[in-house]
Amino acid sequence: MAIQKAEAFVLRSHPFRSSSLVVTFFSREFGKLKGVAKGVRKEALANPSSYEPFTLVEIVFYEKLRSDLHLISEVSILESFEGLRSNLESLAVAYYLAELVDQLTEPQDPHEKIFKLLDFAFRNLSTLDPQFITRFFEIQLLSEIGLLPNLEGCLSCGEPSAEKFYFSARQGGLFCPSCRKKAPDAGIISLETVKNLKLLMGKPSFNEKFGMEDVGQLIDRFMNERLNKRPITKRFLHQVRALKGRKVMV
Ligand SMILES: [Zn+2]
Repeated sequence: MAIQKAEAFVLRSHPFRSSSLVVTFFSREFGKLKGVAKGVRKEALANPSSYEPFTLVEIVFYEKLRSDLHLISEVSILESFEGLRSNLESLAVAYYLAELVDQLTEPQDPHEKIFKLLDFAFRNLSTLDPQFITRFFEIQLLSEIGLLPNLEGCLSCGEPSAEKFYFSARQGGLFCPSCRKKAPDAGIISLETVKNLKLLMGKPSFNEKFGMEDVGQLIDRFMNERLNKRPITKRFLHQVRALKGRKVMV
């Protein structure tokens, strides 16, 4: 067993046996890591912050070569991002983004860009528009793991500028009117939405205001096709947003 050190975000943690926790991290050095923190449940209950989701920590762990479950020996908090915990929508977004990373990455497959994306999101969720951060994060994450939809033209014939396009979430790209029959799930997509998606793929300005709703529905459909299971945190996020959008009648 080799002793390793890593800087990592806690993605989630759950009880293990009577006194331990199994913690899933996303680290700068190793990508996703899972470890057992033995005998810490009482301590963690008294002072939960070290293993609280979204906390940035430094961990020392014994790397097990025959298992994905390592043994955590030390943990120290680098940042706890209190700001995002004080707002329900930011918190719901953070849970959802952490679950996306957990579902879409393999253990010990390093992606420093994903580490930086998590850092960007957790650092800015309390001040920037959470909806913008969600969409930006989703697109950038898909790009990093090579799952971005292709928006450069019709997937079937290559036509780059048809008068209208249809988008297939299943096949991950556009279809022109003559090839549409090859993608039964495809729905019409406006050129505006294509433009906005391309903006999110680059380096958008966070002051930009654009049709987040259309972009959002499309990413949702696309993401659902790529995930093994629908994120449980997504439902929580929808409930929080519904609550926020509800008008109080007096
Ligand atoms: Zn075509």
